[in-house]
Amino acid sequence: MFHVPCLMNLIIFGPQGSGKGTQAEKLAEKFNLSHIETGQIFRDVAKLDSPLGVKIKDLSESRELIPDEITVDFLVHHLEKISPDKGVILDSAPRTLGQIQPVEKLMKAQNRSIDRAIYISLPYGESVARITKRFACTSCAKPIILGKHVELASDICPFCGGQIVQRSDDTPEGIVKRLDIFYNTTMPVVEAYRKKGLLIEVDGGRGMEEVFEDIISKFEI
Ligand SMILES: [Zn+2]
Repeated sequence: MFHVPCLMNLIIFGPQGSGKGTQAEKLAEKFNLSHIETGQIFRDVAKLDSPLGVKIKDLSESRELIPDEITVDFLVHHLEKISPDKGVILDSAPRTLGQIQPVEKLMKAQNRSIDRAIYISLPYGESVARITKRFACTSCAKPIILGKHVELASDICPFCGGQIVQRSDDTPEGIVKRLDIFYNTTMPVVEAYRKKGLLIEVDGGRGMEEVFEDIISKFEI
């Protein structure tokens, strides 16, 4: 049985639509980890009126990956703020093969090791199907799922009657570009952690609770 160390540090991967963010939050809660989501950090920085904010906004709008140096700089900044007696779950970092070494070095400088890497798999077509159903209300900002909360894209928000729209990067071209980046650039990182014997792989094509139980059960093998 895998002994769960008192200070556990995890990394998590999954293509868009795999539910990776939700699972990262659930794991953070269960194991008292600090959830570091680089995508969210970048979205927050992109809102700032600074040279770096503008640069990140431009890169995000063209759906390019944020350069490794910038990603690593942000991680340094965020890891430093976390209490040394609390574990972390890194969501979307390392995201490229080039980030593995700097990220591991950073973690090591804080006496942290990556204990497990979690990969939530989802077939390409299923990612596209799930993402194209994601809408949000322009008035109350609640997430709306086509086929669950509303039937058609022309329907109104069931919570407040507002207009619903698709996220600007959830257009077909945007989805394909982000999935291509995931499979071409991040999948080799997943394989690197498989080789290290640290990978927990689960099938993301199921309900949220079922996927979570599967991850937890695989910690104990
Ligand atoms: Zn609404």
